Amino acid sequence: MMSITKLDMPERKNIVLLAADIWGMCLMTVREILPEKGTVLTVQPLILFQMPNSISLSPKKMQLKKYTVEKTESEWKQQLSSDEYRILRQKGTEYPHTGEFNLHFEQGSYHCKACNAKLFESQNKFESGCGWPSFDQAVEGAIEYIRDTSYGMIRTETVCANCGGHLGHVFNDGPRETTGQRYCINSLSIGFDPS
Ligand SMILES: [Zn+2]
Repeated sequence: MMSITKLDMPERKNIVLLAADIWGMCLMTVREILPEKGTVLTVQPLILFQMPNSISLSPKKMQLKKYTVEKTESEWKQQLSSDEYRILRQKGTEYPHTGEFNLHFEQGSYHCKACNAKLFESQNKFESGCGWPSFDQAVEGAIEYIRDTSYGMIRTETVCANCGGHLGHVFNDGPRETTGQRYCINSLSIGFDPS
């Protein structure tokens, strides 16, 4: 067993985030059981809990596909902050309700923090309550969709179609009166341009 204290800071941060996810899943299990008196304790399927997006400890699994904007990992590290790098290049996730754009509703557009490609318009942003910036639609052609089977779940990952940077996931529980989709996006993956 590796000692966390012996790891350097970025590794330690990833492990703490991973532990937070597991803790979240356990909480869900407890909530399911507590309200019913006398219920036999059973292990609930962990996939019932919609965890934050997958967290990767290494960039090894990044797509091999060629993008318009391609950089080496050391170039990305130079350009991005350590948190931005962890999310955009290592498919990490920011904590819910902490992101700069979670409750940001000004008029304008949102671009990829890594390559500046335009991704979302403010009129498609809505408050989903999930703790991450949510959009019911993306700029046409701006997003690449990747099947994500990590953590025992089948989800659709969203990455920037221009550079491959990880943005978040898209779910089918968005507003029914519009598209029915919810793009769940990390604030750290995007920047804002007011209009
Ligand atoms: Zn990009």
